[in-house]
Amino acid sequence: MLRWRSIHAAKERIALVPTMGALHRGHLDLVTKALRECDQVVVSIFVNPTQFGRNEDLSKYPRQEAEDLKQLKRLGVDAVFLPSSAEEVYERSSETRILPRPELVKMMEAVFRPGHFDGVVQVVFKLFQIVEPDRAYFGEKDYQQLKVIEAMVEDLFLKVRIRPVRTRREKTGLAMSSRNKYFSPEEKEEAAFLYECLQSAKTPAIARRRLRSKGFKLQYLECWSEDLLEKKKSNGRWYAAALYKGVRLIDNLDRSTKSS
Ligand code: AMP
Repeated sequence: MLRWRSIHAAKERIALVPTMGALHRGHLDLVTKALRECDQVVVSIFVNPTQFGRNEDLSKYPRQEAEDLKQLKRLGVDAVFLPSSAEEVYERSSETRILPRPELVKMMEAVFRPGHFDGVVQVVFKLFQIVEPDRAYFGEKDYQQLKVIEAMVEDLFLKVRIRPVRTRREKTGLAMSSRNKYFSPEEKEEAAFLYECLQSAKTPAIARRRLRSKGFKLQYLECWSEDLLEKKKSNGRWYAAALYKGVRLIDNLDRSTKSS
């Protein structure tokens, strides 16, 4: 703690990269950008139970701490916040809570994962309090989450700047994700069809039909305006979530034709 205060006192710029571990190159892009922009980089690794629903994959979420730490050390990260148990973050079972901005949690992830964003803002707010970062890095892969966090920072006057990072993809186009570890190599190739449809279908309805015909259990595939306030026909950002071979995939892609 003392060292922490001295870092703040030295006016060094501190970065936080919140993760749930099982790090892949997408996560490392966030870390690399943080290292480029800040003096001290903190990565948190915490599989936050409060953002998982009852029937979700909390207990089997991939964990590979030793490997994660090795990768972060190699990159030159300054500190890792790795709580040894959930109790370290949540001392009490009931506690003061904040709520995500309501209009951002009426659709998509919020509908299919009820309470998910409540858990996200709860943990991210706490991480901000613990680390006191000047900048925090979030992936565009979880675009609705990014918008929810940006809104929290704005609404609560938090003194942290949110830095978005582009989605890192496999050569096939599949967005990298810790959950891709559940796939066989063949299934992983097939899963890239989600991105292909997001990229090339003429309308969301066509994309939905094509995905369903290939065995994707679609939760949503919708187009929204950049601020997530308006559902659009096709000119906007396309969002999708689907189960493929039992693995939950989410992705999004900007398909807006910007008029000049
Ligand atoms: P997670 O460990 O899944 O909670 O992700 C931690 C952070 O990494 C979040 O801000 C994600 O949006 C981001 N992230 C996850 N996958 C990717 C990816 N493929 N490209 C860029 N950022 C990602």
